[in-house]
Amino acid sequence: LRRLRERLARSGSPLGARLLSVLSRDTLTEDDWDELEETLLLADVGAGPTDEIIQALRTRVRVEGLSAPGQAREVLREQLLALVDPSLDRSLRTEPVTAADGTPAPAVVLVVGVNGTGKTTTVGKLARVLVADGRSVVLGAADTFRAAAADQLQTWGSRVGVPTVRSDRDGADPASVAFDALRTGRAEGADVVLVDTAGRLQNKAGLMDELGKITRVLSRDAPLSEVLLVLDATTGQNGMQQARVFGEVAGVTGIVLTKLDGTAKGGIVVAVQRELGVPVKLVGLGEGPDDLAPFDPEAFVDGLLG
Ligand code: GDP
Repeated sequence: LRRLRERLARSGSPLGARLLSVLSRDTLTEDDWDELEETLLLADVGAGPTDEIIQALRTRVRVEGLSAPGQAREVLREQLLALVDPSLDRSLRTEPVTAADGTPAPAVVLVVGVNGTGKTTTVGKLARVLVADGRSVVLGAADTFRAAAADQLQTWGSRVGVPTVRSDRDGADPASVAFDALRTGRAEGADVVLVDTAGRLQNKAGLMDELGKITRVLSRDAPLSEVLLVLDATTGQNGMQQARVFGEVAGVTGIVLTKLDGTAKGGIVVAVQRELGVPVKLVGLGEGPDDLAPFDPEAFVDGLLG
């Protein structure tokens, strides 16, 4: 978390700095309010949440004024924190579950999202976190479209020391690979099965069919523990469009926001949570194996405010 804060601080956090510089002015004109609004929109906070925060700030300023030093920061901090919603349950469900036949089964975590957002990397990092925590993990390479994708996952598997279930041939049925991974996980008494998927948005109907089938196959005997949607924080409104598309598929339970190290536009956290109604649970802060952190609202907002 300290790392998250440091990195967000290092990324320059112009959002917090710009908001504070406007908000600290002696009297706020309509132009100042427009500037605040624009700053929030540019940081990908989204139109609805931006309206909310502006209204709330206007009320606070009218009622209390912002005369005391540091008060602007405190008010802004409270409002941003409320938008990020610290009350959401962000824990990752990775405890083993009970299958329909009463036997214990691994927790299944399905990872979905558009190619290039960081799915495979996230699966690798997550495996590492779980293994460090003493859990046994099996990886499933259900992106069978490109052999390179399975290779990449397998490389992560070797690096972390966990088995990777994959198909030998390109174009194999992704759902059957996912099912194989689950079967292997059960046979080996694994705690968690992490399934990586393809994300070719060019063929939306095909992709949705594919994910639907994977979901059905994986939840035949026991409910899926998590469906994590991976979004690239640097893609702004494109990311929001993706979130909408994937949100329509079998219940996303959490969001992983990757490449937060590469942007100061952290406002996407607020926008995407609102859009999907599910919390950001994890953030990606780099390409390395240790660059995955639980999302911490307070650290995040402090990072934004610098
Ligand atoms: P996939 O196609 O969705 O599986 O995406 P990959 O896992 O292959 O990642 C695409 C690229 O993004 C790779 O070069 C990763 O190293 C990089 N990447 C993934 N997560 C992060 C992150 O949190 N920060 C940064 N800077 N790069 C990331």
